[in-house]
Amino acid sequence: MAIRFVTGNAGKVREAREYLSGIEPVEQVEYDYTEVQSDSLSEIAAHGAREAFEELGHNEPVLVDDAGLFVDALEGFPGPYSAYVEDTVGVERLWRLAETDENRRAHFRTALAYADEDGTETFEGSVAGTLVAPRGEGGFGYDPIFEYNGQTMAEMSTEEKNAISHRGRALERFAEWYAERGE
Ligand code: IMP
Repeated sequence: MAIRFVTGNAGKVREAREYLSGIEPVEQVEYDYTEVQSDSLSEIAAHGAREAFEELGHNEPVLVDDAGLFVDALEGFPGPYSAYVEDTVGVERLWRLAETDENRRAHFRTALAYADEDGTETFEGSVAGTLVAPRGEGGFGYDPIFEYNGQTMAEMSTEEKNAISHRGRALERFAEWYAERGE
């Protein structure tokens, strides 16, 4: 059965398709679910997935992904507000802010929430990296300034990014759970 990935972000869909191909088809659906105010990405994603499943109809399961960049030197900012900060401050200026501190460590985290008629499950993934001046043409969002093992995530192929990324880890956990549940 196809899984409806509820997002306006084509980059997230590309990564989910790359990972889940061979498991289930992934269909992109745009629906503006309510983003609850919370420090927990899982809570935001779970609430969104439940709402989308109820509102879009119960024919197929839905997947929602809520992600954020957490900069160590900025006490985890922008975290759950990463989308707002990308739209307002922008990636380049966030880098310039981070550049002023010696500690360039950051984490990317994501929470995937899957909802169907049996309930809602969440799967988290995170990756630690270093913030750098923007490099690379691939990926999306903060990928050009997030370096892992000498490469920014914008310099990686989708497959390479999935192998190390927060979303790849969460997709792996989801795929394991999904396979066990089908047995
Ligand atoms: P949201 O999960 O769609 O709310 O995304 C939060 C913010 O993080 C947005 O600014 C996205 O562009 C950005 N973002 C989400 N996932 C990634 C990623 O895998 N790499 C880089 N930026 C991301």
